[in-house]
Amino acid sequence: SRGLADADPDVFGAIQGELARQQEQIELIASENIVSKAVLDAQGSVLTNKYAEGYPGRRYYGGCEFVDVTEDLARERAKKLFGAAFANVQPHSGAQANQAVFFALLQPGDTFLGMDLACGGHLTHGSPANQSGKWFRPVTYKVTEDTHLIDYDHVAEMAEREKPKLIVAGASAYSRHIDFKRFREIADSVGAYLMVDMAHYAGLVAGGAYPDPVPHAHVVTTTTHKTLRGPRGGLILSNDADLGKKINSAVFPGLQGGPLEHVIAAKAVAFGEALKPEFKAYAGQVVANARAMAAVLEERGLKIVSGGTDSHLMLVDLRPKNVTGKATEAQLEHALMTCNKNGVPFDTAPFTVTSGVRLGTPAGTTRGFGEAEFKQIGHWIADVVSSMNGGDEADPAVVAEVAGQVRALTQRFPIYG
Ligand code: PLP
Repeated sequence: SRGLADADPDVFGAIQGELARQQEQIELIASENIVSKAVLDAQGSVLTNKYAEGYPGRRYYGGCEFVDVTEDLARERAKKLFGAAFANVQPHSGAQANQAVFFALLQPGDTFLGMDLACGGHLTHGSPANQSGKWFRPVTYKVTEDTHLIDYDHVAEMAEREKPKLIVAGASAYSRHIDFKRFREIADSVGAYLMVDMAHYAGLVAGGAYPDPVPHAHVVTTTTHKTLRGPRGGLILSNDADLGKKINSAVFPGLQGGPLEHVIAAKAVAFGEALKPEFKAYAGQVVANARAMAAVLEERGLKIVSGGTDSHLMLVDLRPKNVTGKATEAQLEHALMTCNKNGVPFDTAPFTVTSGVRLGTPAGTTRGFGEAEFKQIGHWIADVVSSMNGGDEADPAVVAEVAGQVRALTQRFPIYG
C-alpha cells in the first residue's frame, strides 16, 4: 500500500521485488503456493494487534470477542474439512505443531520411530540437529533400495525391536501414497501412538486427491501453507477428545504465548476456500499436472525417484545426466524456474550438493497451469539440464531462450494483477 511505500521505502522496495519475482518466475518448490487476496487481507489485518492467550471463550485477556469469532471459524472449518472431532489452529508453524505433539505425548529420552531424513522425512522427525533428535531417542525407517517405496515390513520390524512410544508417518520428499492404515496396524501391534504429519499432502487430502490419514492416526499435524494454500502456519487434528485436551495444553501454555490471531483468521479464510467444490478440482489437477511433468522428464532421460508420482511432487534423480542438484537449482533459476536441490534416497553426494531436485505443481496449478503447460515446463527443465553437458553451467543461449518463454507463459497466467 501507499502507506508502506512512504513510511519505509526500503522494506516496500524489497516486497515489490518479491512480488515481481513471484509474478515472473515459475514456482516449482513443492512446499510453496500462491494464496488468495482474501488470505493476504486477513493476514495483513488489525488482528495482529491483539493478545488472546488461551482459547475461544477461555482467554486471559479482555476484548477477545472478535478474535473468538475468527478462531472458532478456523477450528470449525478445519474440523469439517478433515472430518476431525478436534482442531487446534494456534501452532505458529508445522515445526511447532510437531513439537507440541511430542511435548504432549512423550517424555525426554522416549523412543519414537520416524522416516529417515535421507529417504524423505522432515527435520522435526528426529534429525540429530533438531530438538526432536536431541531431546528424544529417534529411530528411523527407510525406503527400499530398489523401489524407493516405504518398506512397511521394515517399519514393522523396527517397531517390534525398538518399541517406540510414537510412530511418525509423513514426509517432505516422498511422492507416493502412504498406507496410513498399515501404519496404524503397526502402531497398535506395539502399543504406540501414530502421528501423521501430512504437511505436504494436506491440500490433496482436503480435496480427496490423496489418502486420508485422519481416520487412522491418533493425531494429525500439518502446515497450512503448502498444498492447503493458506497462510504460513500449523494445525493439529485428532478424533480423540482426551488427546485434544493434552494437545491444547501443550500448545498453550506449554510452548507458545499469544496466538497469531491475524494468521488464524487467514487460516479460517483458506479453510473456507478449501471447503468449496473448486478446491477438489484444484487438488485433482495438481496431481494430474505432476504426473504429466514427471512423464516428460522421464521421456527426456531424467530419472524420477520411485518411477513416478501420486502427489504434487516428484524427486528428480539427476545422475543419468551427471549433474548435481546444487548446479541444477542455480541454472534453472537463471531460466526463471525456482526449485530446491534435494538428496535422493541413498545419495552419496554431500547434502549441500545432492544428486537431485524436488519439483512440485501446487503453485503453478493455482495460477492456472494445466497438463499442457506442465509438459512444456518439463521440456524446458530438460533443455536446461541437457545443455549443462555434465557440468555446472547451462548453455547461456538455452537459458535465455527458456527464460523468454517462461516470461511469456507467466504473463499469460498473471497473479496479483
Ligand atoms: N513437516 C513436514 C513434513 C514438512 O515438510 C515441513 C516443512 O517443510 C514441516 C513439517 C515444518 O513446517 P514449518 O516450516 O512450517 O515449520
